[in-house]
Amino acid sequence: MVLNNLHRFFWYPAFIVVVLLWVDAFASFDDRGHLYLGLGTLILLVNAVLLSAYSFGCHAFRHAAAGPRLLLLLPGRQGSLAALARRHRLQRPPCRLGLGQHVQRGDRRGLHPSPPGRDARPPPPGEMSGRYQTRECDVLVIGAGGAGLRAAIAAAEAGCSTLVVGKSLLGKAHTVMAEGGIAAGLANLDTPDSWEVHFADTMLGGQLINNWRMVDLYSREVIDRVYELERWGGLFDRTDDGLIMQRAFGAHSWKRLCHVGDRTGLELIRTLQDKMVHTPGTDVLMECTLTRLLTHGDRVCGAFGYLRNTGELIVIRAGAV
Ligand SMILES: Cc1cc2nc3c(=O)[nH]c(=O)nc-3n(C[C@H](O)[C@H](O)[C@H](O)COP(=O)(O)OP(=O)(O)OC[C@H]3O[C@@H](n4cnc5c(N)ncnc54)[C@H](O)[C@@H]3O)c2cc1C
Repeated sequence: MVLNNLHRFFWYPAFIVVVLLWVDAFASFDDRGHLYLGLGTLILLVNAVLLSAYSFGCHAFRHAAAGPRLLLLLPGRQGSLAALARRHRLQRPPCRLGLGQHVQRGDRRGLHPSPPGRDARPPPPGEMSGRYQTRECDVLVIGAGGAGLRAAIAAAEAGCSTLVVGKSLLGKAHTVMAEGGIAAGLANLDTPDSWEVHFADTMLGGQLINNWRMVDLYSREVIDRVYELERWGGLFDRTDDGLIMQRAFGAHSWKRLCHVGDRTGLELIRTLQDKMVHTPGTDVLMECTLTRLLTHGDRVCGAFGYLRNTGELIVIRAGAV
């Protein structure tokens, strides 16, 4: 704690230096009883003024107040000093990590501006203006990338009517662009590999700021998911023995990347789309941007958005989103 705040304590010796500089500056005006003004006196004066300004300026002065640790030397951290401390925090508060982050950010984003001539003001809270269509389903899946498609398959297999909504065309998600491959500790080429090593590599690669529970789930479950893709028709590159080929990748201790040349994402989304459209109970709504989650009490019960090719508004009611 003391080491961490060491630089702050240098503010106190600066007092002594400032006093010495002023004594020096005043002394330089005295030429054996006569007032003297030369380049040297000016330099000393400017020097004292500048260091005083810096030491007692807002930036440096906050060190007297900012760190609660400095209470050791400055017990009365009240009033204006406390106000100064509040305005100059030691560091920014850490970002909250969570699954809801993207949704929340999207929720705050505004709709596209209304065309000229229309009233761009939003309707009062709780009211809807204009015409809109309504759809209903048991499960609404927002996003038709790898995550959304796999979730939709699971929901439909559980017997739910499932609507997958994507703001682009089916197949046009980031997933399709993944080139490197799917990291999974299959240990097909490097036998010491395992989900545990995969977990450790991922946490270290993420400088330990990863959501460890997500990493834990991913590294454990991805092995089954890769074999599942294979069962559903995904064609991975093969070793001579017919196993799924794996290659090296950044931050991986062992060869771990299951791939299909440099078009793994394309094969992944092709396989999942194929599986989804052949799973009874699924439906897809393309080019529909959802802008708001709808809630009933503290439960999400649907979403609101617009169809991109017509601009028509849409409300989707769902048992789960
Ligand atoms: C160039 C590139 C290379 C990559 N390489 C690799 C790799 O080698 N290995 C690897 O593991 N990962 C790789 N990644 C990362 C990986 O592709 C993504 O993390 C993963 O595909 C994300 O899948 P997803 O389903 O969550 O999202 P996405 O595939 O991005 O799907 C998001 C879906 O949500 C829809 N959507 C978004 N907002 C809305 C809205 N408001 N309303 C309605 N629908 C909406 C989109 O239309 C889309 O269908 C790569 C990514 C890129 C871009």
